[in-house]
Amino acid sequence: MNTSSLPLQPFKSLSPGVFRASTIVFDSYEDFVGRKSRQPDGFSYGVTGTPTNRELEAKIAALEGARHCVVTPSGQAALVASVLPFVSAGDHVLVSDACYGGLKAFAHQWLTRLSVEVGVYPANAGAEIESYVKPNTRMICLESPGTITMEMPDVPAIVAVAKRHGIMTMMDNTWASPLAFKPIEHGVDLSIEAATKFFGGHSDLLMGSISTSNTSFYEQLREAQATIGLAVSADDCFLALRGLETFKLRFDMQSASTMKVVRWLQAHPLVAEMLFAPLETDPGHAIWRRDFKGSGCLFSFVLNTGSEQALSAFFNALKLFSIGASWGGTHSLIAFYPASLQKGRKFATTDQPVIRVSVGLEDPDHLIADLDQGLAHYASHLSTGR
Ligand SMILES: *Cc1c(COP(=O)(O)O)cnc(C)c1O
Repeated sequence: MNTSSLPLQPFKSLSPGVFRASTIVFDSYEDFVGRKSRQPDGFSYGVTGTPTNRELEAKIAALEGARHCVVTPSGQAALVASVLPFVSAGDHVLVSDACYGGLKAFAHQWLTRLSVEVGVYPANAGAEIESYVKPNTRMICLESPGTITMEMPDVPAIVAVAKRHGIMTMMDNTWASPLAFKPIEHGVDLSIEAATKFFGGHSDLLMGSISTSNTSFYEQLREAQATIGLAVSADDCFLALRGLETFKLRFDMQSASTMKVVRWLQAHPLVAEMLFAPLETDPGHAIWRRDFKGSGCLFSFVLNTGSEQALSAFFNALKLFSIGASWGGTHSLIAFYPASLQKGRKFATTDQPVIRVSVGLEDPDHLIADLDQGLAHYASHLSTGR
């Protein structure tokens, strides 16, 4: 059947169209020869996306208060793509002592191999970051709070130092999401999200985004996407667009549940320390209250010292929390980071094993009951001394 002979019917849907393409076709020889002039917004080859990608990028840019956005195949790809195009051999790049592990590995193992000098600054730094700046410092990589240990840097103070020295800044904003913090509005050049977390929201999608209001940076990012081959499937963009429909609802609900779980844990006699800036007792609380508009779903804590067996009993007793990396989805997750991870840090803020929790959409009272019975298993191993 030749469908083009059917009379055209009106069609309108509430959901975005999914445009899949490797090849994008051109109307004329001239169009094809000049195809590069369609970048950075237009379409010349599937690697830089289709209208589905642009629809998602526009939505993310609006959320971030940015003019432009490029989506990437993962949060990690977004981190790499926000550094690599902008640094050269001989440059110096500063990374936080508690930055995301993938960025840390990229900086220390790859950038150094390419003769880019890598410096580390304390994860709770403010204006004193100036003492780490060198004449060849090209970029400061920020993350707030620090991955796993949750230290709060003073972002506006760091950005002020960067601007004074003409240093570019990028920030991994995944923890807060643009609902709670908008890096671009605080003068950060590139705002990175692991869309895998809150935007996707259902633990079934890997994606990242880089947003900026600087058109030259945007052009370089789009070019980097083509050069490195950071293609993102239109089907994945569709899933992220659908995730964004419920993003604020999920974020608000998960944030409220998280505060409830956190306050319960804080009062538990087996809990030695909560690592969560929205708590009044946290050393980063004043900065969080000044700059952030939400508390999110991800926190860490330290238990009173217990044996390996006690930890194993706690984790294995949990029924509602799945053990796993990643976070931000509808199902609650719990993960373990041994004390040895902190030993490799230059400015460690704890020397203890850390437990990290992502609160999903389950009833918080059920989550608390699950933690309660899990901690009872932990306690039983403490009392027997095994
Ligand atoms: C998960 C995460 C990333 C990496 O995202 P992926 O999509 O899993 O590659 C980067 N930064 C932070 C803070 C994250 O939590």
